[in-house]
Amino acid sequence: MRTRFAPSPTGPLHLGHAYSAILADDMARKNGGEFLLRIEDIDQSRCRQHWEKQLYDDLKWLGLHWPNPVMRQSSRLPAYATAIEQLNELGILYTCTCHRRDIKNAMSAPQEGVSQTGPDGLIYPGTCRHSKHPQKNNAAIRLDVTKAFDHLKINVLDFTETGPDHMGTHHMSAIEFATTIGDFILARRDMGTSYHLSVVVDDADQEISDVIRGEDLFEATFIHVLLQKLLNLPTPRYHHHRLIRDDSGKRLAKRDDARAISKYRADGKTPDDIKAMIGITAL
Ligand code: GLU
Repeated sequence: MRTRFAPSPTGPLHLGHAYSAILADDMARKNGGEFLLRIEDIDQSRCRQHWEKQLYDDLKWLGLHWPNPVMRQSSRLPAYATAIEQLNELGILYTCTCHRRDIKNAMSAPQEGVSQTGPDGLIYPGTCRHSKHPQKNNAAIRLDVTKAFDHLKINVLDFTETGPDHMGTHHMSAIEFATTIGDFILARRDMGTSYHLSVVVDDADQEISDVIRGEDLFEATFIHVLLQKLLNLPTPRYHHHRLIRDDSGKRLAKRDDARAISKYRADGKTPDDIKAMIGITAL
């Protein structure tokens, strides 16, 4: 068994991160496996070195250990480019020059009870799907979901959950994928990759057997499973855990400095206090 914690250094780690990291470490240790840390820093406009340094300090303070050197996504661009090339050869990609405003304008009027967004943001109406743009460096690359399912000759995706809250096998049909997620972005403008592509390539290269992360990424998992199938990569087991919320029930975000681990540390709390706060007792 190999698990990982994969934070982005875009702000201080909070209680939700502590929960994810401790669960992943705990699961690996209980099964004689290994826990890895990976730095998800592809969005260089938002990542900062001091946040990266602080997250190492916070995680060490919590008592976690991981093998060095850690994988940093900013040094993995060639691996992502290779994966994009592999997908491009399948004839399922297209370049997209739409800005958010264009997408909004092209979307049909909202219907009651039908969401206009999915785990990759606005459900793309397909404006650029059939236009033959010349390859442009600053254009985004999207994946044509219908062509992808046709290529795989499958109608449904599935993955296995081991976490108590979502235990079992989860399915999504091609039609459901097209209508609730749509042609997602594989590579962002000026970035050469996306969260979805990077996470799939890296989990496979690091031979992660069990992905433990917050349930805000549950729906995105179908994007990851589709990419794994297209790239001939194994699908790990998934464990999406409950989100840690503040007293008013709102999920924590990086901007919630009040719940930052570093803040609790500075206030004299102990790692056991943190564990008690997030409902982890016997470790
Ligand atoms: N880097 C992502 C985050 O900080 C987590 C990705 C994952 O665990 O798959 O939210």
